[in-house]
Amino acid sequence: MTTDTLEPTTAHHSSMDKEWLSSIIQPIEHFEEARRYRATHTRLEAMRLAAEKFRTDMLNKPQVKFYRSMELIRVPYPTKYAFLNCNIIPMPFIHILNRLFVVQVDTSEGLKTILLSPSDAEANAETPYFKRITNKAGPAKDLLKKFIAPQSNTVNGCLEQLGLLPEDIDFISYDHLHTQDLRQWLGDGNKPGLFPNARLLVMKDEWQSAKALLPPQIDWYCPNGLAGVPEEKVIQLDSDVMIGDGLALISTPGHTAGNHSFVAHTPEGLKVTSENGVGPDCYAPEKSRIPGLKKYALQTGMEVILNGNTLEGGMDQYISMVVEKTIAGTHPVYRDFPNMANSSELTSYWGFPGYKPTAAYGDLHFGALTKK
Ligand SMILES: [Zn+2]
Repeated sequence: MTTDTLEPTTAHHSSMDKEWLSSIIQPIEHFEEARRYRATHTRLEAMRLAAEKFRTDMLNKPQVKFYRSMELIRVPYPTKYAFLNCNIIPMPFIHILNRLFVVQVDTSEGLKTILLSPSDAEANAETPYFKRITNKAGPAKDLLKKFIAPQSNTVNGCLEQLGLLPEDIDFISYDHLHTQDLRQWLGDGNKPGLFPNARLLVMKDEWQSAKALLPPQIDWYCPNGLAGVPEEKVIQLDSDVMIGDGLALISTPGHTAGNHSFVAHTPEGLKVTSENGVGPDCYAPEKSRIPGLKKYALQTGMEVILNGNTLEGGMDQYISMVVEKTIAGTHPVYRDFPNMANSSELTSYWGFPGYKPTAAYGDLHFGALTKK
């Protein structure tokens, strides 16, 4: 990844804007040295130590003011990718649950509201991988969609439920841009977006690769999902940052090269959100009751099970997942599992029987929302 500067890329922003942004977005330096080790075993242990130190430091600092995760939609996902190399049940799909995370943090520029993973489910359905599955049903595809991808809520519905207005949203971010269409939120250059004040926080590597996809990536990105999104609404990050008090974005390449994780300091410890793994089970496979995971982990010594549909960087993904679970620490109730709040999480579904999570924490809610 790019390490020439820790400052966000703000070439498209005015100097006043840059100053404003740099007082809210602060670089984190904990991982910079460890990432430079080229030998993977050395990098793994250096990153693990850096993650422990980062965890201690973050726990000694203020918490977010508000944190809420809300169900959006369940979608089918190939088992062979979800539990890379270890599935044994002949059930080709699992169900993963996509959530929206609404977070408010104090910053030196006042309270800021951030949406993590605001998925536009209808637009995302254009992603080639999903489209191929639903198109197979021909005229029955709307029925099939309802069966395989039941929607619990929309982003707009969640905001209404919370009493938030579109103009209240200051930042949006995704752990990576697979399946995402940002035009409804940020505009496409012709039509304004729904969130007039929101900026996208994204790793530079993710933004640039999503705008010039290679053939192995195309299946998982929404065609034109970024087309026309004004560059001044995009903050390209070079590395790890804090967003005000209690929310960190940590570069965790692997699932995609520009993948990042959200770390939120809550009353229940550090909640880590990512799609490198599809739920807490994948971060403690030796304790999992999901068929195949424990056996595979014990046979191989794997500390984590990769979500391997694209494997843009397999070894990096392994190291990133170890970092994620080290930062998260142990869940306060499910003591065998780390405190992960994955953005695409394995969930039980009668339509795809056979796989259910050993640990699932449900929708989370901490603190009181402040309305502007
Ligand atoms: Zn993905």
